[in-house]
Amino acid sequence: MKKKIVAGNWKMNKTFNHAKELAQQLVNSSYDTEVNMILFPPALYVSELVDITSESSIGIGLQNVSEHEKGAFTGEISAEMIASVGAQYCIVGHSERREYFGEQNQVLSKKINQLLLNKITPIYCCGEILVEREKGNHFNLVKSQIKEGLFHLSSEEILSCIVAYEPVWAIGTGVTATSDQAQEMHSFIRGVIAEKYGLEVASKISILYGGSCNPENAKELFACNDVDGGLIGGASLVAEKFISIANSF
Ligand code: PEP
Repeated sequence: MKKKIVAGNWKMNKTFNHAKELAQQLVNSSYDTEVNMILFPPALYVSELVDITSESSIGIGLQNVSEHEKGAFTGEISAEMIASVGAQYCIVGHSERREYFGEQNQVLSKKINQLLLNKITPIYCCGEILVEREKGNHFNLVKSQIKEGLFHLSSEEILSCIVAYEPVWAIGTGVTATSDQAQEMHSFIRGVIAEKYGLEVASKISILYGGSCNPENAKELFACNDVDGGLIGGASLVAEKFISIANSF
């Protein structure tokens, strides 16, 4: 079954105390019980936030993982470590990781393997930069991100993944994709997955929209047939805004 998901990517924001405070506000809040809320705090705070949210249905995840299993990789965090602190999710291939850290589809596919081996749910990000959309190349580009990042997986494995479509031109810019643009790409992504794994599998995978999603536009975006929720950056840093988004289905 596709799940309704609101995922908050806190990126490199918040001190420890502010992060704990925000997590506690979300734990104390009420939102649609059918919605899966997932928080992606800075890695340093994950263990504490797993504790704070342990009595709630809120899930906790990492913003990145190493493609390696273990060893001499200074500064890196392995999938096994993520599992060992009780986190259940991890973002893979966020556009900021692709742009600033040169992460490409092949490496990302290895990160996904590590996560699945450790029973962590990957949220695999795809999306085009503005130039690619203006050239009319956005569908091809997203298709290759999906194929190269995910298509080595079995049906069972891909069913353990979540996909996030994040048009890079909409991330942190205040410019949102229209609901028509979002639906068009989400339906395309589901179609690409269906070509390889069949309609039944494709219909069960949650595809999230990311890119300046906020309390004002979430309702319209989430009303689209193939939009199963959102990966939210800026608006997830304020409890009231994030809760309002969670109540937008
Ligand atoms: C993101 O970084 O994944 C994101 C969608 O950010 P924002 O909501 O701030 O555009």
